[in-house]
Amino acid sequence: MNNYLMTGDRTRWEVLWVVRKKGKQPRIVCIEFENDFSGALQLYLKVKAAGRPLCTLRCTNVGFPPPEKFRPHFIRVVVGHKVVRRKGRKFRKKIYGDQEVIPLKELNLKGVWWCPYCREMRRFQHWDGYESRTLFSGVWIPKPGMYCPMCGISQEDHHVRKWNPQAITIQYQIEAPKRLRKAKTNGRGRSRSRSSRRRT
Ligand SMILES: [Zn+2]
Repeated sequence: MNNYLMTGDRTRWEVLWVVRKKGKQPRIVCIEFENDFSGALQLYLKVKAAGRPLCTLRCTNVGFPPPEKFRPHFIRVVVGHKVVRRKGRKFRKKIYGDQEVIPLKELNLKGVWWCPYCREMRRFQHWDGYESRTLFSGVWIPKPGMYCPMCGISQEDHHVRKWNPQAITIQYQIEAPKRLRKAKTNGRGRSRSRSSRRRT
């Protein structure tokens, strides 16, 4: 809860949940609260108590870190052994070292990501693009990638990338073929540098 205090009242909030009706597609309900955090919290607790699926208290403008157990951390592990002599007898002594653990790396591979705006673990989905919600509302933006199924934040967002290692891996896979193509057509530039080297 300390995170709420740290960000002051600059934060803007909304409450989301899913409505499922027989014979109809599930629908996401979203109520905006601007910077009225206590109002948003009140509704969130009410909706959660009513057992609505995927009830979310979402911050629209600040990315939150995951709970501590999901953040990168170090653990002490046995990295080897050495033989020591004590009173004429030999003993095997453990040598300890620090090993970095990135819990989200494993979880990402299972499809579970941290959404820093929903502030929940989410099963991110592969979308071919998204509908713009800003200036050209409703316009389809083709942009393949991984998206939060509740709030639609993409893998390209800074805070999504910060906590989910898989976001960077996927981004690299999308960008790498482009870079390789560029490198191939850039032959002229390379030969020029080679010839300038010869001249000197
Ligand atoms: Zn989200």
